[in-house]
Formats: sequence, C-alpha cells, structure tokens
Amino acid sequence: MSLRLRLTLLYSWVLGLTLLVFVIFGYLFLAYYLTGEIDRNIAGIAREVLRSTKVVGEPPYPLRQVVLPNIGLFAGPDTYLQVADRKGEAVASSVNLNSRVLPLSDGTLEKIAGGDSSFETVVVGGERIRVFNYPLYFDEQVVGVLQVGRSLVPTIMALNRLRLFFLFIGGVIVALAGITGWLLAGAALRPIERITKVAAGIQQARDLRRRIEYQGVDDEVGRLAETLNVMLDRLESTYRQLEEANAYQRRFVADASHELRTPLTIIRGNVELLQKMGEFDPATRTEALADIAGETERMSRLIESLLALARADAGYRLEKQCVLLEPVLEEVFRRAALFSGEVDFEKGDIDDAKGVFLFANPDYLKQLFLILIDNALKYTPASGKVRVEAKRLDGFICISVIDTGIGIAENDRPYIFQRFFRSDQARFTAGTGLGLAIAEWIVNEHGGHIEVASREGEGSTFRVKLPVFSENCS
Ligand code: ADP
Repeated sequence: MSLRLRLTLLYSWVLGLTLLVFVIFGYLFLAYYLTGEIDRNIAGIAREVLRSTKVVGEPPYPLRQVVLPNIGLFAGPDTYLQVADRKGEAVASSVNLNSRVLPLSDGTLEKIAGGDSSFETVVVGGERIRVFNYPLYFDEQVVGVLQVGRSLVPTIMALNRLRLFFLFIGGVIVALAGITGWLLAGAALRPIERITKVAAGIQQARDLRRRIEYQGVDDEVGRLAETLNVMLDRLESTYRQLEEANAYQRRFVADASHELRTPLTIIRGNVELLQKMGEFDPATRTEALADIAGETERMSRLIESLLALARADAGYRLEKQCVLLEPVLEEVFRRAALFSGEVDFEKGDIDDAKGVFLFANPDYLKQLFLILIDNALKYTPASGKVRVEAKRLDGFICISVIDTGIGIAENDRPYIFQRFFRSDQARFTAGTGLGLAIAEWIVNEHGGHIEVASREGEGSTFRVKLPVFSENCS
C-alpha cells in the first residue's frame, strides 16, 4: 500500500471517527433536549388543567364530584389527557384518545398515592407516548391522577431524519476530505518522488556529478534534497580521492617495477658477460663485478626506500622517545663527511641545537638529515658548498641544509616530494626519486614541517621545522 493511500485512509478514518462521535453526541443531546421540552410542555398543560378544576356536591367527595374542565380543550392533535381514579381506572379522557387508555403502572400508582408526580414513556397501540402523571387532591387527599400525554412519534421521526441527514452529510464530508487528502498527499509527496527518481538515475548511471534540483521552499523536503546533495558531494569527493589513490598506487607499482628492472637488467647483462668472457678477460670480469656490486647496492637501497614507503602507506607509526638533538646531528655530520667528495661540506652555526630535546625516533631522524645532506652534496658540483644551520624559533628548532648547487626549477618545485619524481637536471646523478618522499613522511611523523627555497643555478635550502620536546626530558 503506497504512503499516499495510507495517509489518505488515515486522515479519512480519523475525520470519519470524529464526525461519528460528534453525530452520536449531538443526537443524544438533541433527543435529551427535545424530551425535556416535551416534559416541560406537558407539565405546563397539567398545571393549566388543574387551575380550571372545581368541586361540586357534598362531602365525602367522590372523584365524580370533582368537576374537571373540558379536557378536550387542552388536548391538541398530539396531546392526550386522561383522568383516572386512585386505582388507575380511567374516568375521563380526551376525544383524540378514542377508545385507547393511557396505562398506569403499579409503580406510578404508588408514587401518586404518595403525592408524587412522575414522567413515564408508554406504548399505546404501537405509539410511543410521553406521559406526565399528576396526583389530584381533594381535601388534602389524593383522589385520582391527571395524565397528560404527548405523542413521541413526530420527535422520533424528526430525530430519525436528522440521523439520516447527519450520516449522509458525514459520508459526503469524509468522501470529500478523502479526495482532498489524496490530492494533497500527492502534491506533498511529488517532490519526494522526483528526488527518488533523480537518486535512482544517479545510481543507474553511476554519475556522482549529478545533483537533485529543488526549487521549492525550505521545508522538510527541501532539507532532504539539500542533505542528499551534501551526501553526494561527500561521496563524489571520497570516490575521486579513492580513484586518485588507486591511480597513484598503480603508478607507484609501475614506477617501482620499472626502477627495479633497470638494475636487474644490468646485473643480468654483466652475469652473461662474465659467463662468456670472465675466464679469459680479467679486466672485463673486474668491471662486470663492480657493475653488479653497484647495481645490487642501488637495488637494495631502492628496496629499502620502497619498504619504508610501503610501511608509511600501511599506517606504520614511528616509535619515539626523548632524544637529544645535537649528538644526532654530530653523527650525521661524521657520516656525511665520508661521502662529501669534492664538495666543501661544513657544519654551520648549530649552537641553537645545543641542549635541545626532541620527541623523536633517532634512527629516522638521522635518515632524514642524511637524505637532505646527500641530496645537497649530489646536486652541488665540485667546489660548491654545503652547510647545515640550526635556529630556535618559538618552541621549534629549524634545521636548514643549504647548498650552492644546481637549484630546482620553479616548475619542478611542487613535485619534488612526490615519489619517483626526478628533475631533468637530476637524471645525470644517481638516485631513485624516493628520498624526499621518505623525508617528508619522517618530518610529518614528528609533527614537523619541511619546505624548500631554491634558485636555479644558485642553490637550494631545505628547512626542517621540528617541535622541541623540552629543555630536558626529566
Ligand atoms: P633523488 O635525489 O633520488 O632523485 P629525491 O626524492 O631525494 O630523489 O629528490 C627528488 C628530486 O628533487 C631530485 O631528483 C632533484 O631533482 C630534486 N632535488 C632534491 N634535492 C635537491 C637539491 N639539494 N638540489 C637540487 N635539486 C634537488
């Protein structure tokens, strides 16, 4: 059953029930009120009759001597009068009663004997009559009873007609309300139907760019459309992110396989060369073995880097502890001096790093600075300079690796932290394009920030900003 039909049936039912209760109470009230009117009316007639009553003859006065007025005068087409003695025997009655007699029950006679008047509904010849029984006194003694009756037939007929009228009108009202309700529910639900259609269309076409157009007022339906659109925004951006992540991952795997294939090809070529000529040509053998050693070294470095990034992608969190920065830097400088070659590597002003503690992983911290210094040395020609400086800055320590090397072209700068990116100038130097991606991950893991400033042909400065833990760890 549709929501529209259910709504229509529900409020038709509620309206029908309300009308029915109203009709029942209205009918009962009217019936009560009309009966009350009749009672007042017949009691009034009884009083009129008594006022015109006189007594003739000598005592003891039998009822016959109580001369009643011509009761026929008080009787109307639906009003009956009757006088009965104490035993309930009719003594006189209005002509319109014909031969019919207004009955008197034992209970009524008892009340009359006690001097009490009473109302009663009786059935005479199939006609319902409302009767007022009033005791007739003579000499302070009840001698009989005056009965004034009014036919209830016209009232019952009127009430029956009214009931039919009420039912008919009620039925018409419920039917009209049902039709109106059906139309209103249709109009109210139409926007929801439209929304459902658009949502189904989006789902079928798998087109997350589509939106629900709603021009109506800002009501519940308007808010539903808005909420759905916000949800679609979210879905679209999440879907796009997922697609980007997927594409990124595919590119990463393709690049990684490509990078791994190159050293493998060289190693295989050298092994084949060794197999063919190694025995006879010691010089070729030495060269081939050196090549194999170099490429193996490069491959293991590449695999190390790939592993580090794979761990980063898998959400690996570094284990950190309180670390004194200066010894870490000293260790890095000692190692860097070993491979600085022709480049003038100098330890600049690192006084600010003295006594500074970081909440860090010392191994990864060393790896971070080694990557930066290694790059600086790699991309700085012989006779160039590489320097490291440290500066304190509002709860942070900034370590800068400054070189006077080839610099980075402005166009390349946004990409240097991406995996496998290598600038055209850098392709002449050995490298994997993974160093800065790892460096950035390490910096992020330490809650820090890395940035680069560079001028092509003049040099680059990589600045790492790390939060200082405290002056001492205790
Ligand atoms: P790799 O050095 O192995 O190529 P990195 O991720 O460390 O990979 O660096 C990415 C790219 O950033 C390098 O290929 C190079 O183009 C550029 N780059 C990094 N450091 C420097 C630097 N000190 N001077 C000039 N270019 C640099």
